[in-house]
Amino acid sequence: MNSLQTKDLNYIWHPCSQMKDYEDFPPIVIDRGKGVFLYDVDGNKYLDAVSSWWVNLFGHSNKRINKAIASQLEKLEHVIFVNFSHEPAIELSERIVGMTPEGLNKVFFADNGSSAVEAALKLSFQYFQQTGKLKKTKFAAITDSYHGETTGALSVNNIDLYSKIYKPILLNTFKVEGPDCFRCKYSLNRDICNAECFEHMEETIKEHHEEIAGVIIEPMVQGAAGMKIYSPIYLKKLRKLCDDYDVHLIADEIAVGFGRTGKMFACEHAGISPDIMCLSKGLTAGYLPLALMLTTDEIYKAFYDEYTSLKAFLHSHSYTGNPIGCAVANETLNIFEDEKVLEKNMVKSRFLKEKAVELLLDHPNVGEFRQLGMIAAVELVKNKETRETFDWKKRVGYKIYRIALKHGVLLRPLGNVIYFMPPYVISEEEIDLMISVARKSINEYFET
Ligand code: PMP
Repeated sequence: MNSLQTKDLNYIWHPCSQMKDYEDFPPIVIDRGKGVFLYDVDGNKYLDAVSSWWVNLFGHSNKRINKAIASQLEKLEHVIFVNFSHEPAIELSERIVGMTPEGLNKVFFADNGSSAVEAALKLSFQYFQQTGKLKKTKFAAITDSYHGETTGALSVNNIDLYSKIYKPILLNTFKVEGPDCFRCKYSLNRDICNAECFEHMEETIKEHHEEIAGVIIEPMVQGAAGMKIYSPIYLKKLRKLCDDYDVHLIADEIAVGFGRTGKMFACEHAGISPDIMCLSKGLTAGYLPLALMLTTDEIYKAFYDEYTSLKAFLHSHSYTGNPIGCAVANETLNIFEDEKVLEKNMVKSRFLKEKAVELLLDHPNVGEFRQLGMIAAVELVKNKETRETFDWKKRVGYKIYRIALKHGVLLRPLGNVIYFMPPYVISEEEIDLMISVARKSINEYFET
């Protein structure tokens, strides 16, 4: 252990970690980053195959974004956002409204993904309080959903690992059986099915719509659940059902927005507009915490009145609309436009698929390869035929992660799912390295 690692463990409590794990696997202290690589203080380099928790789009230490930060810093670092505004936020809002699905015309700023989800839930609830449907106080989310870690966001999480222990302090929400395409109960295939599994959502909404303010969903890909991809027909049906029963559709595009799924926003796969949309992560290309919640004129109007009506949405965070964050977001959008990112990603995602199919699919423990745009994953199984999964206590993914780090790739699997969500600047050679190391690490794990 080097001296920085010793000090780190003396003082720091890391996220999403059992700190005891660090006894024989101390945190890797990163000194600098460039492109898809991170370099530690001991001179090792790691390919960041997970975009540092799905945030990085254009590589570490990107020249254009560095410059945008420097020039914004010369002007204004931060200003209170109530009664005050600034050009970077105004420009960003205009551009975001112009590019997100139709009808999302108002932008509300938050600091991180979870806080945008909190704002979305509060907004939806308050809307119905102010429009006379007072019984609409609950939310629904599908199995394996993940929407962040703050208390409200955890209430709409259905991954026990993160939320179970907190149940007594969480909101009472409806958990609806959602799509599970790899282990489809209808023996169908996500590419050709009619989202038959939607029947569970239909039942819940039909029966409980009077109590339900909104359904929150990760469009197309359930990230934390292990990059579970489902049919866009599910979203189409959800849009219609929400319209029929006056339920808000809240699209959590925090992980899938900004081109991850091949479209700028994942809702585009289904051609739907949600009532509320949450964005973060890629919004600032992996540089700074910033999030947005977008909503419709109709919802906005339910809050617009004399101050004394007490209808305002009083949600606020100290760093709301941070100008440096907004300047980075604007430059992120410039890069998308100038560098034809989505077009180039189409070629990269095809290459990624070819390589993954060539190098991973024949392994006896690889149950499925799934991909949507720049998100790809393989699910490891005990038995290919039955799709039986490994006992979580074996920590298969975690052990493969540790092996892959020795070979210079940061994979960080989710349970038994090894996924690839690299920065868009990744080259074909680097994709090859990433997938080859994944295969080598899977082999090593199963051989020992
Ligand atoms: N929603 C989704 C779909 C996410 O993937 C995440 C983060 N992984 C969040 C919400 C929470 O975002 P944050 O970590 O910025 O709070």
